[in-house]
Amino acid sequence: MDNVERTVMPGDEIAAAEEYVCGPGTYELEGKIFASVAGRLRLDLREKVAEVKPFNPPAQLKSGDIVIGTVSAIRSSMAEVEISEIEGTERGITGDVDASLHVSKMSSRYVEDVRDVYRLGDYVRARVVQVSPSVQIVTDADDFGVIKALCSQCRSAMVLKGRDVYCENCERAERRKIARGYSTVE
Ligand SMILES: [Zn+2]
Repeated sequence: MDNVERTVMPGDEIAAAEEYVCGPGTYELEGKIFASVAGRLRLDLREKVAEVKPFNPPAQLKSGDIVIGTVSAIRSSMAEVEISEIEGTERGITGDVDASLHVSKMSSRYVEDVRDVYRLGDYVRARVVQVSPSVQIVTDADDFGVIKALCSQCRSAMVLKGRDVYCENCERAERRKIARGYSTVE
């Protein structure tokens, strides 16, 4: 016998609970199994498991991914970045989204002080180089670095001015490791 596969919507009744075990993407109510997500139903006839694979499952970060994130902490030798998106996908991210960016991997130039390249709240584009046991990212190439900087005094978005970023509100410049294409990325 072949496994049953078809498209289901949330709330669709898919099997009897006495015949199948609830797998991912399903729930049981009053002896029946229902789909909890829109996706592809799979009734495994051998294992007796009902499962719905969502159409847009969240992605797991992997080495080599280009990611966008926000600087969430600055430490003496590293920045922490909360990853919000994997470039080129609409999918959400599952698992660990907190990445570490070591000072030696921030720029192709020597960085003396983390604050010379990143500040809290900056949006950065980076490349994932490790996902386990912790997520590590790097920005030591032209395409990577700050894509939108926030003024460290008034938190306004800063504009590119020469090799620095400039706050028109406070009329002052700050330094950053700026990514190619600064602020053209939404
Ligand atoms: Zn400002």
